Amino acid sequence: MKERDVIVVGAGPAGATTATILAQKGLDVLLLDRAQFPRDKTCGDAVPSGAIETLGKLGMADKIAQSVSRGELYPLEQMYLASPKGHELVATFTKGNNGEASYVAPRLYFDALIQQHAIDSGAEFVQAHVKEPVVENGRITGIQARINDSTETIPAKMVIGADGVTSVITRTMRPKQNQHVDKHRAVALRAYIEDIEEMPKTVEFYMYDEILPGYAWIFPTGNHTANIGLGMRLDIFRKHKIKLEDLLKKFLAFPDIKKRLLNGGQLRDIATWQLNFGSQKHLQHTFDGALLVGDAAGFINPLTGGGIHNAIISATLATQTIVEAFAKGDTSRAALKVYEERCHQAMWRSMNRSYFLQRTLMHFPFMIDFLVKRMKENSMFAQTFLSKL
Ligand SMILES: Cc1cc2nc3c(=O)[nH]c(=O)nc-3n(C[C@H](O)[C@H](O)[C@H](O)COP(=O)(O)OP(=O)(O)OC[C@H]3O[C@@H](n4cnc5c(N)ncnc54)[C@H](O)[C@@H]3O)c2cc1C
Repeated sequence: MKERDVIVVGAGPAGATTATILAQKGLDVLLLDRAQFPRDKTCGDAVPSGAIETLGKLGMADKIAQSVSRGELYPLEQMYLASPKGHELVATFTKGNNGEASYVAPRLYFDALIQQHAIDSGAEFVQAHVKEPVVENGRITGIQARINDSTETIPAKMVIGADGVTSVITRTMRPKQNQHVDKHRAVALRAYIEDIEEMPKTVEFYMYDEILPGYAWIFPTGNHTANIGLGMRLDIFRKHKIKLEDLLKKFLAFPDIKKRLLNGGQLRDIATWQLNFGSQKHLQHTFDGALLVGDAAGFINPLTGGGIHNAIISATLATQTIVEAFAKGDTSRAALKVYEERCHQAMWRSMNRSYFLQRTLMHFPFMIDFLVKRMKENSMFAQTFLSKL
């Protein structure tokens, strides 16, 4: 197969955004995903206005507006957060600079919009299960993938690992002693519920002792339907040996939730997946001929579990770096390393602050009652939830 400028492995928000920008810049981009689109991705589906604003700048505003008018994306106005003792915090979402809203955007629809935009921007999409990067003398020179029942090797000047939490690029390239550890990871269960009295235009967060510093959520997707789930830090989950399905059943049995179920709680598409937080220091995101974006790098907010906005931020920083590297004719790690500094600059402060809050909630659970009771909607706590859903 002919050598491509860039192969992007994974067509989720990180990969599809990367492919869109690079194709718009005139590079020859091959976008690969093991799934055909549209496809589901286990997620809470909440997308903050900042992410929508960036996609709008890439020419996606019409696609997003059409998706909203088809009823696929559900616009949000506010968030509601309940503390263990029942204190409540309500805060309003700020709009983007061009009036962009935040949404509950089921990934079945949302990811297909960005993947299609990458294709419309000039990237070639192929359904392919990437088995491993091709590494020659420590440098990634392409990928090996299963395509239509045969194994193909495709060379590329650069490979982008955008293949999520279980990334084969990360696993192969990042030094073993430097992978994500359990305290910087989480596990979460997501389902769709079809018979709930929703709080209109409101995402709901419930923090309570059994799952702190995690939370349960109800994110409405339409009339009586919602994305519902809960997540826990992986080390705590392993210690307590709990089943997330049982925790969800318990959550649905909370009197305040139970009374809102119209037919006992009809769940579909129950699924569990992992999250890698951006709070772990010194992780390597660049290699000779390759770099990592989104969940493959591990850019999820450790307090909120939100990763879509950061995936898109990392994609924009990666493309800036890649374009510069191509202009210099140097795609070595030395040339790409500036991407790690850019990510640090753009995201570390918020990650660090969120990790501090997360640990505070874990060690001093009463703090959440204090914070929710005292904090106003412009507090750092509320704003973190609003901007990094
Ligand atoms: C339960 C749960 C709830 C969450 N809720 C929210 C939320 O409400 N808001 C939010 O912002 N974030 C949320 N997140 C985090 C969010 O889902 C991720 O941060 C986001 O999906 C990252 O996007 P990505 O493009 O990096 O990776 P992904 O969306 O995981 O995309 C990776 C893509 O790579 C493909 N792929 C994987 N391996 C291969 C391979 N070997 N070959 C080819 N293709 C491959 C996959 O098919 C997939 O399409 C949640 C996560 C979980 C688990």
